[in-house]
Formats: sequence, structure tokens, C-alpha cells
Amino acid sequence: MDLSLLKKTLDSLELPAFRYRQIVKNYYSGRYLNFDQMTDLSLPLRQKLSETLSLLSVSEKTIVGNESTQKALLELSDGQKIESVFMDYEDWLTACVSSQVGCPLACSFCATGKMGFKRNLTPEEIVDQILYWNQKIYPKYIGRVVFMGMGEPFLNWENILTAINIINSNEGLNIGARKISVSTAGVADKIIEFANLDTQINLAVSLHSADQKTRESFMPIAKQYSLAQLKNACNYYVGKTNRQLFFEYALMDINTSQNDAILLANFINSNRLFFLNLIPLNSVDGGMTPASPDQQKTFIDYLNKLGVEYSLRRSFGQDISAACGQLATV
Ligand code: SAH
Repeated sequence: MDLSLLKKTLDSLELPAFRYRQIVKNYYSGRYLNFDQMTDLSLPLRQKLSETLSLLSVSEKTIVGNESTQKALLELSDGQKIESVFMDYEDWLTACVSSQVGCPLACSFCATGKMGFKRNLTPEEIVDQILYWNQKIYPKYIGRVVFMGMGEPFLNWENILTAINIINSNEGLNIGARKISVSTAGVADKIIEFANLDTQINLAVSLHSADQKTRESFMPIAKQYSLAQLKNACNYYVGKTNRQLFFEYALMDINTSQNDAILLANFINSNRLFFLNLIPLNSVDGGMTPASPDQQKTFIDYLNKLGVEYSLRRSFGQDISAACGQLATV
């Protein structure tokens, strides 16, 4: 909801400040689908609010999915569209939210990268993705938020931080910082800024190769921030926060040779708080080729021999194109 417009509307009606707080509380509760349902407000006020404001800045165009994963195509007030994903597995109901409409980073394996960059999302549009899911699943609610949808969070960092403050606050969505994760393609100077914030928010870095040339070949941002710079920033983060840092590594045919395993082992084993998440590469039109089952097995054998600890993530939502890197709206 546009809170400044709400404030203006209430001021014009000369309503007391507690009304504002009451409506904001209703809004963040995720329990109302429209103003009309807020029966703790007078009928004329509900009517006035419905005429003046939209409760959410995102509106559902389509939704697909199954019990454990759902993907919604959401329209914004200027007609742009984003995707947002809901996951119900393990202990927490998770929202995978978008940070931008499209993405400027153009990683070759990622569907969002292929659609180009349209614009940054506002804090309101970020928070409203979570409230959209809360409305759907009420009386259950989202307990974990991952910034792993469309876009690069560190290129819209100010708005993400404003949104995170609302998501985190008692008066907002009340989701603990440890239940929030941000994933970056490797914007090294922002990793340092993030470390300096001294929060409990989790950080993941999309590594995908520990070889400079290979990484550059499918992640253009690697030319801007070299692996050496990225590693320095990651060491700084770990030194400053003493928190684990997660590296995402999607298994492709071109990053799973023995040499790739050696370089990856050197990278991950260089810091005891670096942790490796291996993920299967999800298929994307015009994207990269996934490692074959044989290539995967050999690569994992190499890593085992080199003493690298990792987790092999299952990928959710492939059947509805809601998995990592499959989010695109055109
Ligand atoms: N821009 C951020 C966040 C969005 S992507 C980032 O790059 O981290 C979320 C995760 O999905 C990243 O780890 C990304 O590298 C991964 N990803 C992108 N395309 C993928 C694909 N086709 N298969 C598997 N993972 C992919």
C-alpha cells in the first residue's frame, strides 16, 4: 500500500493518528483481501479507502503450481510484470521474491538475464509480494524470505534494505533477520557494505566457477569484479560477521572438469566459513548445458577426494518453470 497516500487521505478526513496505525497493522497482517473486509473501520471510511488506494501494489495475473511450489505472475501499477514464488518445504513457508523487473547482469544460464533490465522494484512492491502470499495462505504466513527471484538485490540495495526493515520489524511482518537471505551474483563492493551493516541476514554468492575465464564466459559481471576481488570481499564478510557464507554452484558441462574441481576446492577450503551449495542447472531456452549425470558424479567424486564439504540441493518448481533461473515474464 502507498503509505504516504494513506496518510494524506486520513489527514484530509482529519482522522486521528491511531487510525493510520490501525490500517497499517491491518495491511501488514496479510489477512484482508480488500479494505471492505476491515470491519473494524467505519463503512464510509472503508469506501473512501477503496476509492483512493490499492491495498497491494501487485495484482495477480496468473498462478501455477502444486502443493509445495507455486509461482505467480504479478502485475505492477505501471503494467510491468514480475514473478514471485512460494515454497512449502522443510520447516518454513518461504517466499522467493524479485528485486527488479528483469536484470541487467545477463548471466547466460539465467532466464531473467535474457529478458534484460526494465526497472528497480520499490520497497512497497517488494513487501507486497510477501503480503500477496500471506493473503493466499492465511491463516498460515510466510516465515522465510529469500531474495532469489528476478533481479540482482545488490543493484537495488537501498530499496531492498527499506523493505527488509519492514519485513523484519515487529510492527511490520516480524520475520527474523536469520530467516532472510540475499543472493548476489558477486557485486564485491556491496558485499563489503553488507558486512559492515552487521546484521543477521544470510548471504549467498552465485559462484558457478572458480576459474576467472570460465566465469567470465557466462557471467559478464565477473569482468567487472574479478574472482580475486570477490574472494577478498567474501573473506572480509566472514571476518567481520563470523557467519557462514554460502556459494551457489550450478552444475554445467563447462564447469565440472577435474581442474574446475581443484580450483573450486581451493576457493571453498580457503576459509572455514565458506560453504558450498551444489545445484542442478535448470534448463532455460538458449541457456547453458547442464552437466550430464556422469559429469555430475565424477565432479562430486573429485570434490569428495579434495575434502570439500557441500550440500547437494534439490531443485523445486522445475515442472512449473519456477526453479532458480527460470523466472522470466516475456
Ligand atoms: N541475481 C542474484 C539472485 C537471483 S538468482 C544472484 O545471481 O544470486 C538466484 C540463484 O539462481 C542464483 O544463485 C543464480 O545463479 C541461480 N540460477 C540462475 N539461473 C539458474 C539456472 N538456470 N539453474 C540453476 N540455478 C540458476
